[in-house]
Amino acid sequence: MPNLNRLERQLLGHICARYNEEVNPPRAWPSLAELKRITGAHDKSISRGFNGLIKKGYAFRVTKARIGRQAEYAPNMARIKEHKVTHELPIDKEQVTVKAVIGNPTVLHGSPDSYPKPIKPIKPTTQLFIDLLSVIPKDKHFTATAEFLSLLEQVKHYGTSYNDLKAHLKVFNWFPIYAPKEFVISLLKEKLAKPPRYSSEVKPKWCGNCDEVSRKLSEWVDVPNGNGSKTQSCLVCNPYLVNKANGY
Ligand SMILES: [Zn+2]
Repeated sequence: MPNLNRLERQLLGHICARYNEEVNPPRAWPSLAELKRITGAHDKSISRGFNGLIKKGYAFRVTKARIGRQAEYAPNMARIKEHKVTHELPIDKEQVTVKAVIGNPTVLHGSPDSYPKPIKPIKPTTQLFIDLLSVIPKDKHFTATAEFLSLLEQVKHYGTSYNDLKAHLKVFNWFPIYAPKEFVISLLKEKLAKPPRYSSEVKPKWCGNCDEVSRKLSEWVDVPNGNGSKTQSCLVCNPYLVNKANGY
């Protein structure tokens, strides 16, 4: 769909996925919360996106939003079928470089099925980002931004958050996620908003008073709220006691 913006394409894809042909009239009624989650966009942008789709003839509004009910939409299937499904098409021929045309002689005869992608600037990346992508399905891969890389780096040094995130993403059902970067950003921010969680592999910063490896003290101390029980674990930097103090 060459003349749609990114959000419009996401919304159209989603109402196609949620289109129910069994009901009369056939339509889709995804919840606003679901649309926000998958697109990462705000209410107003989503409503603007739908208006754009309707104006450009890719969707119909079947019912208006009422109290407690989301507006219902139907994709314009006839219009969508006019377009061959290929990789993302450049908006106009000017984006195709001369070199690319030379490399694709078939483009010179008849109408081409697809154009090579225009040359893009170098993508920012880090070893950590490459590592994160290893647990994300290929079709959901995205380009990192400086903001993304900085959040990822913070999470890496935030207790076991990075390992927890990776384990979560590895078993995650990615199918309904249309905005993977925004989705991962929301998870990164969620991790950073909570106190860090530690393990015997990823320990809190050493306090300097206990044994650095075992995080034990030479003397016995009272366990906080421990009903008089004693411990040799360091209250300041033993991972177990720090987690407990943080509510884990
Ligand atoms: Zn300590």
